[in-house]
Amino acid sequence: MTQTRQDQIREGKSKILFSTKDPNQIIQYFKDDATAFNALKKGTIKNKGLINNRISSSLFQYLERKGIQTHFIKQLSEREMLVKKLEIIPVEVVIRNRAAGSLCKRLAIEKGMSFDPALVEYFYKSDALGDPLISEGHILHFRWATAKELSLMVETSLKVNEVLRPVFKEIGLELIDFKLEFGRDAEGKVFLADEFTADGCRLWDLQTQEPMDKDRFRQDLGGVDEAYLEVSKRLQNYFEARL
Ligand code: UDP
Repeated sequence: MTQTRQDQIREGKSKILFSTKDPNQIIQYFKDDATAFNALKKGTIKNKGLINNRISSSLFQYLERKGIQTHFIKQLSEREMLVKKLEIIPVEVVIRNRAAGSLCKRLAIEKGMSFDPALVEYFYKSDALGDPLISEGHILHFRWATAKELSLMVETSLKVNEVLRPVFKEIGLELIDFKLEFGRDAEGKVFLADEFTADGCRLWDLQTQEPMDKDRFRQDLGGVDEAYLEVSKRLQNYFEARL
């Protein structure tokens, strides 16, 4: 059995990575730990690990069906996902359909302003530096990604937006913004990596405009566990009805 956990590779804020007997495959283990504001705020969200594994597995499978290449191989257990082993590119791509979060603070933009086409931003993936906003110039100059890789990352991120916005709309949620990460395999091929969950995107309830994502935790709004579970249930119903 190659698909069992071997050694721990690293522990991140919300996941632990383990090697497997296959050098090209690793296991992502989803924890209940939640952090915000560059880990200044810490807590746990009940059953977040298994909810996020479920959400991410179903969304990555859906994205694959729509022609987007991801690191997802299969869901192994409640909290474990088998994925391709990749070298993570240290650039976070953020896609925004409406203004929220750091954009509003940084540039005094009114919360909720809509963007069509979607606004694309890049952040340097560095906990030590607090994930600063960067430009294409930084990415190319410091060789964090090649021009070809970056254009594939942006194109893929915009396609993810196009594919997932209608899914969320159908379950009564507006996809406000989200963050994606990418990595390269041993041959240098680029795949969508990490996860797609309520930890890394903003979802506003279409009827109430209430956040149904990590902003409930960031802003102490209460009902955090319930919101994560609700998003997962709605998505599960959506995909089950379409199998
Ligand atoms: N995001 C993330 N990880 C980060 C920073 C941002 O997943 O380290 C997500 C965040 O949940 C939101 C989007 O990226 O959906 C845009 O985040 P923003 O830049 O507004 O930062 P925030 O104020 O949310 O930290």
